[in-house]
Amino acid sequence: MQTPDAGTEPGKLQDEPRFALNALGEFVFYNPAFAALAGLPQAAERTRLNAAKILKFESHPDVSHEGPDNHTRRFMDQLGSGQYTLLCGPNNEATRFQFDWVEGPNGQRYLVASTAKEEVSMDIVRQIAPDKVDGGDPFAASAQLRAEELRQFLEMSDDLMCTTDPDGGIIRLNRALCGHLGYEPRAMIGKMFLDFVDPADKESAQSALSEVLSDGVRTHVSFECRMLTSAGDQRWVTWDIALSAGVLHALGRDVTHIKTHEAELSSREAQLSEAQALAHMGHWRWEVGSADVEWSSELYNIFGVDQDDFIPTMDSINALVHRRDLGRLYQAFQRAIIQQNDYDMDFRVARADGTIRVIRCEGRCEMDHDGEVIALYGIMQDITQQKEHEQALREAKEAAENAYASKSRFLANMSHELRTPLNAIIGFSDLIEKQMLGPLGNERYLDYIGAIRESGQHLLDLITDILDMSKIEAGKYELTVEPVNMTQVVRAVVQMMEARAMEGQLTLKADLPDNDVVVSADRRAVKQILLNLLSNAVKFSDKGGHVIIRLMDGQSAVTVQVQDTGIGIPAHKIADVLKPFEQVSNAFTRRHEGSGLGLAITKDLVELHGGIMGIDSRLGEGTIVMFTIPRRG
Ligand code: ATP
Ligand code: MG
Repeated sequence: MQTPDAGTEPGKLQDEPRFALNALGEFVFYNPAFAALAGLPQAAERTRLNAAKILKFESHPDVSHEGPDNHTRRFMDQLGSGQYTLLCGPNNEATRFQFDWVEGPNGQRYLVASTAKEEVSMDIVRQIAPDKVDGGDPFAASAQLRAEELRQFLEMSDDLMCTTDPDGGIIRLNRALCGHLGYEPRAMIGKMFLDFVDPADKESAQSALSEVLSDGVRTHVSFECRMLTSAGDQRWVTWDIALSAGVLHALGRDVTHIKTHEAELSSREAQLSEAQALAHMGHWRWEVGSADVEWSSELYNIFGVDQDDFIPTMDSINALVHRRDLGRLYQAFQRAIIQQNDYDMDFRVARADGTIRVIRCEGRCEMDHDGEVIALYGIMQDITQQKEHEQALREAKEAAENAYASKSRFLANMSHELRTPLNAIIGFSDLIEKQMLGPLGNERYLDYIGAIRESGQHLLDLITDILDMSKIEAGKYELTVEPVNMTQVVRAVVQMMEARAMEGQLTLKADLPDNDVVVSADRRAVKQILLNLLSNAVKFSDKGGHVIIRLMDGQSAVTVQVQDTGIGIPAHKIADVLKPFEQVSNAFTRRHEGSGLGLAITKDLVELHGGIMGIDSRLGEGTIVMFTIPRRG
């Protein structure tokens, strides 16, 4: 509690004796007139003068003195607002005072006493003791912190503190500074502040310090630098330096963790931009209603604009979008805001250099707590190259399809054209071979004509296969479905193959059910399938081998198996031999005739019937080819 210097009070208030007490009965103020009247010291004193000990009341019904120990609140409680006569000074001069209780804005009550007749207002109280009434300087109390308290606070603080002489020599420091830099206090006191600054930052720290030291214009400076720990590590510290009474006060904060986070963040940002650059992709965000759009750096490259000149706004971006795509873009954004859904679209950008880029935009909506869309955000990717590839691929596919179609057309036409003369060659050579119109003069002619007929037949078989293959590939092979007695067909085909089997010195057997197995199928196709499989089995078996064909009746399908003890097919070739013109080439197979179309046609014909075909083969042991013809309906 401070008794203000009476001499500093405003003049008007000094005229009449006045004083003010707080609720504890302590003088918060008295003026020189009252000091003179009551015989109190004029100068400010730091003692808490107690009114109960000083004020003497002329006998008054409400105020009783109960001795010096029983004062304060009780005494104050007795003092209501009103007129009191005080016996003042050594002569007990009776003086009449008006007592008024007033409440200050800080909620404290004050008793103001005056011999004047004017009404006591808060203004007077404020003039009397502004620091008491308004709370004054809120930090005034801190100024009175005792040394012990200060020491305690300094111990607790994690801020780095030290004082230095004007040359920067450390005079005093706190525990935090030693702790952060890993030194004993003794190792730092007397050393230069700059000795602990990382050499890389010494120059900038030096110039910051000299700002407060040398020019004297500034008393305060802030800077950031790296400090070196005793272990040689770096700590980032932001320093506030103030010059006062020739001493530098340095207050620092260790911001190493913030710097580390910042570094991590910027490295991640760099990685993200790099990844975005690699993917030709960038991200964007637009707050609904705002003119500006946030762009990541790669978007500037994608749109072909300069990051320093171009400001991405709705208008500036729209100006780059291809005229024909603008409507769609607007629509997509509008729909997203209204329907609150995700969206994606492709649009073209006409760059300033005249090139057109195709951009894919994928976006999401950002909602507020009420579920309203407040922003749109997403990514944009330059997919021009991808689009070009797609286009090239589409064109290549179309070209391939066209080429394939014309090849099939050519093969079909050519085969057809070749069949007629071939039939004539075969027919007439057969007629000559049989010497229907009279004997041939020379025996060797007979051999030749036989060779002509066989070659013609071989050519015709090949052409028929090619024709079938191209018909199937063109989707023009039509099945003539009728009830086919499979038992009979198998028997017939086995008979046809018997001569060839005998020629190869093989046994050929059929394993057939007793009853007739009838299935809806194309008779010619079924025959062709069986002949192809049996001819392979016979062709790829060595002397003394066995070929067996099995027919199995089933509820949903009829199954046929052709098994041989031939050379077998390597496992990795099984898928290949089902494709046209694919043959296993080795010394043995090369001895066999064939174009490699048989299995491809067979498989296609089985599948045209809705059936499946499979091959199980072991090299050197033999092969089983099986297929099914499903029963219809
Ligand atoms: P084509 O049948 O057109 O006269 P090809 O018999 O060579 O000629 P495919 O019937 O398609 O053609 O058979 C393709 C290849 O599969 C054959 O060349 C052969 O290498 C192999 N192959 C087929 N069946 C057998 C089998 N039963 N045993 C061993 N290899 C076989
Ligand atoms: Mg074959």
